[in-house]
Amino acid sequence: MKRYAELAPSQRTIMTPGPVEVDPRVLRALSYPILGQFDPEFTSYMNDTMEMLRSLFRTANHWAFPVDGTSRSGIEAVLTSLIEPGDKVLIPIYGRFGNLLYEIAERVGAEVVYIEKEWGSVFDPGEVISAIHREKPALVLMVHGETSTGRMQPLAEIGKVCRELGILFVVDAVATIGGVPVNTDEWFIDAVIGGTQKCLSVPSGMAPMTYNDIAAAKLNARKTIERGLRTTADSASASCTVRRPVIRSNYLDLSQLQDYWSPARLNHHTEMTSMLYALREGLRLVLEEGLEARFARHRLHESALVAGLEAMGLTLYGDPSCKLPVVTCIAIPESIDGDSVRSMLLNRFGIEIASSFGSLKGKIWRIGTMGYSCRQQNVLQLLGALEAVLIRHGAGIHTGAGLQAALDVYDQT
Ligand SMILES: *Cc1c(COP(=O)(O)O)cnc(C)c1O
Repeated sequence: MKRYAELAPSQRTIMTPGPVEVDPRVLRALSYPILGQFDPEFTSYMNDTMEMLRSLFRTANHWAFPVDGTSRSGIEAVLTSLIEPGDKVLIPIYGRFGNLLYEIAERVGAEVVYIEKEWGSVFDPGEVISAIHREKPALVLMVHGETSTGRMQPLAEIGKVCRELGILFVVDAVATIGGVPVNTDEWFIDAVIGGTQKCLSVPSGMAPMTYNDIAAAKLNARKTIERGLRTTADSASASCTVRRPVIRSNYLDLSQLQDYWSPARLNHHTEMTSMLYALREGLRLVLEEGLEARFARHRLHESALVAGLEAMGLTLYGDPSCKLPVVTCIAIPESIDGDSVRSMLLNRFGIEIASSFGSLKGKIWRIGTMGYSCRQQNVLQLLGALEAVLIRHGAGIHTGAGLQAALDVYDQT
């Protein structure tokens, strides 16, 4: 019989835009005993999690809970539940994750219209607002932080116009939540999805999200149970005539999920006990640190990293005025093999940075400074290792300058 070695994953320094390193307290939480999903001890952890998510998203919304699955499942749950087939949806796209919103919206039967911005920049809010007036959509879907290009879209003005016109405003804040302010209520966002494995530094596998009463009203109007659909959520309705599902997913039907996260605790799927522990501990860490302090920490390590890279003589990619603070994109120098540099960083130094997608493939590296990975030791190790690897690859860089510039940033604070 084939024998398999015991699991022994290497300790890595992960400087990608996710997944990132996880705080040891969160890893410990993952090893705690399992509780049943209706055990009052467990449901009190669920309630704590809802409360902490409201603080994280800076919202007074009643509904704030995680969808079980990666961030994409949260996005898909919101779009599947809030878009009715035939709804006109406007998607301003400025990177890969805008395309994801497009794909999901189209799959759930939306009539999608989009505007597009060249990768490396974002929209002037006025451009989106004129498209809204022109197209009169039922929903506007936007990405807050585009990890693919390292850009961040200002949202407040767009949200305000959507609210005035009765348009639902849905935001993918997967990359920004916990690292950069996401002001759900102040920016008039009706539904917003975050991610665990990025700035929250929890493993991948849950999608924290929140939606307001306006979104809930649309959702509840589509509620499967009330339409007499045969459903496992309510055994009494099992004798009802089977009708066509209104929300075309069972797993991602927010109207059913919210019934489990409500005091009624209507059964849906089996809650992911261990992931809920991990998320709860991750949120506790965020709130202990304090949101403002956490945002400032992300800014500090970004500045040290950027100072180091520029002092080395490397060029950053994209419009600096809309740089996403938690992702730094570097133009790969002429005649340097980007993948070879990344492999050497990983194999010799145990440091991981990211490549890129689509038209940017082979042109930029992406470095994340997110969550628990966003710390001085990691930034300094990366700059030192990157310098050595670039010299090894024959790149013309200012030897010795990078680390000193980063140290200067740290010494000034
Ligand atoms: C990472 C990311 C996603 C996808 O998250 P998964 O957890 O891989 O499903 C979606 N949107 C943005 C902006 C991201 O950065």
